Amino acid sequence: MARYTAAVCRLCRRENMKLFLKGARCFSDKCAIEKRAYPPGQHGKRRVKIIGYGHQLREKQKVKRIYGVLERQFRLYFKKAAGKKGVTGHTLLQSLERRLDSACVRLGFAPSQAGARQLVSHGHVRVNGRKVDVPSFQLRQGEVVELSEKMQKNLLVQESVATAAGRSIPDWLDWDAANFKATVKDLPNRDHVTLPIQEQLIVELYSK
Ligand code: SF4
Repeated sequence: MARYTAAVCRLCRRENMKLFLKGARCFSDKCAIEKRAYPPGQHGKRRVKIIGYGHQLREKQKVKRIYGVLERQFRLYFKKAAGKKGVTGHTLLQSLERRLDSACVRLGFAPSQAGARQLVSHGHVRVNGRKVDVPSFQLRQGEVVELSEKMQKNLLVQESVATAAGRSIPDWLDWDAANFKATVKDLPNRDHVTLPIQEQLIVELYSK
């Protein structure tokens, strides 16, 4: 499956905010946003006023980048969300949070979405005791997510899990620290998405 492979800090600089795509580095003073808080490229320092469509586009790009989803897949998420009952923007964010790789980031199995995606696709994560290597797998209520024994012994993973637990794991996941596993207690809701996202702008963009 296609994925973005160029420099990720450029994405944060383009959106003018931290998207936390690089794990521990994002919390250090090496973060590119701390050093160069302006868009990348030759004309990055020019002031450009963003209005209307530009706002909607930037919001959509921001969310795609946070969850590491490319345009085609993101449109599919939107289409499915629009076809369901409830607030489309909230359903869209819920689908993104329910991805297996997103849950792995929340649990600290990996420090970033890209790391979690790799962890899942390399077969280190199990759902209900069975290996699942599809990062976009949608978790359902009652399912149990756990890390392979091999990765439980990995020092970097242990460090990342401890860091995530320190930041607090969202309450839709019932975390069992001794066994590196979590049960999906409830589906995530809008309040579980803590980054500043205006999902209504994405709905307006795709509804044109
Ligand atoms: Fe974004 Fe992290 Fe790079 Fe900072 S270090 S610019 S938050 S990806």
